[in-house]
Amino acid sequence: MSAITWTKSAEDGPARTGTLKTPHGEVRTPAFMPVGTRAAVKAVDPTDLVALGAELILANTYHLMLRPGESLIEEMGGLHGFMAWERPILTDSGGFQIFSLDPEIDEQGATFRSVYDGETLRLTPEESVAVQESLGADIIMVLDVCVGLPAPREVVESGMWRTLRWAERCLAAHSRDDQALFGIVQGGVDADLRKASAEETAALGFPGFGIGGLSVGESAGERNLALEAAVSGLPDDRPRYVMGLGDTEGLLEAITRGADLFDCVIPTRLARHGRVLTRQGDFNLKISAYETDEGPLDPECGCHTCVTHSRAYLRHLVRTGELSAHRLLTIHNLAYTMDLVAEAARAITESRLAELMDEVRRRRRVSPSQADAL
Ligand SMILES: [Zn+2]
Repeated sequence: MSAITWTKSAEDGPARTGTLKTPHGEVRTPAFMPVGTRAAVKAVDPTDLVALGAELILANTYHLMLRPGESLIEEMGGLHGFMAWERPILTDSGGFQIFSLDPEIDEQGATFRSVYDGETLRLTPEESVAVQESLGADIIMVLDVCVGLPAPREVVESGMWRTLRWAERCLAAHSRDDQALFGIVQGGVDADLRKASAEETAALGFPGFGIGGLSVGESAGERNLALEAAVSGLPDDRPRYVMGLGDTEGLLEAITRGADLFDCVIPTRLARHGRVLTRQGDFNLKISAYETDEGPLDPECGCHTCVTHSRAYLRHLVRTGELSAHRLLTIHNLAYTMDLVAEAARAITESRLAELMDEVRRRRRVSPSQADAL
C-alpha cells in the first residue's frame, strides 16, 4: 500500500483533475508547488503560503543535505516540524542541482563540489533516498541523470538507462512506508526514448512519476512532444509531475497533455526582480508608467497584495529596495500561478480547457510597450 493515492475526478481529452491523498493532507490536482529550496519559499513564510492556498510545497535535497544537514532537520522534527509547515511536502533528489554542477558520474553515483565551500562530495541513489527519508517529506524522488539539451542521442540514451538502474536501487533502498517514492522519466526530446523510459519506469511499480530533463534548453514544441510520449507510457491512475515547469503557456500545454504537478522558481524569482505576472500580460513594475498608478497589480487577482496596495506604492518599494517588495510581489506572482492552475482544473471539469488556453493566450498577447519594458 502506497503512502499516497491519486483519484481522478474529471477529464477533458488527456487532461485530468483529481485529488492526491498524502499523510499530511489532500492536494487537488493539477497543482503548482511553490519552491522552498532551503526549507523556505523565498520572501514568504508558511502563514503566507496557507493564505495563498498552497497545498503542497517543494524542498531541495541537495541544498538541505549541505546546510543545515539532514540529521539536524530530522532531530528538529523533520521538514514539517522544522519549518512549521503542516501540509504535504515533496523533496527532489538533488539530481537536477548536481547535474548543473558538472559532476563526475559513474555507475555507482555522482561526485560534485559543494556550492557552499567547494568540498568534494559524493551522492549515490541509496544515499539520496536516505537523506530524503531523514528530511521526511510525503513524496520523495529517485536520483536521476539529467542531461542538458541539445545533446547527442547516445548521451541522452545512456543517461536514460542509468536513471532506470538507479531507480531500481532507490526502490530497494526506500524503507519508510509513510513516504511515497516517485520514479523519474528521462529521454530528452526523443519520443521513442521518452516512451521507453516511461514504460520501463512504470513497470517498476512506482506510485507516481516525475517527468524530468525538460526546460533545459529545448523548444516548446519539442517539450510538448516529449511530454506526450512520456504520458503515453505511464499508467492513467498515478500522478505525473513535470519537474521545473512553471511559465503560463508551459503549464497549460502540460496540463492539456495530462500532467498533474508542477514546480518552478520563475514566479518567485521574477517577483524579486520587480516583474509581475498578470492575466493581461507580464510587466516590469520599475518603468515610469506606473509611477502614479493607483490600480492593483492585476485587477482580477484577489491576493493580499492586490487587495491592499497600488502599483504606485509597490513600484516605490521595488525602486527603493524595501524588503517588503519581495514578499508582496512574491505573494502576487504565486497567487497568479496557482490561480491559473486552479482555473485549468475548473475548465477540465467543464470540458473547456482548449477554450481557456485560447483565452489566456489572446489576453496575454503583450503590447509593444510592455515587451520593451520586459
Ligand atoms: Zn495579486
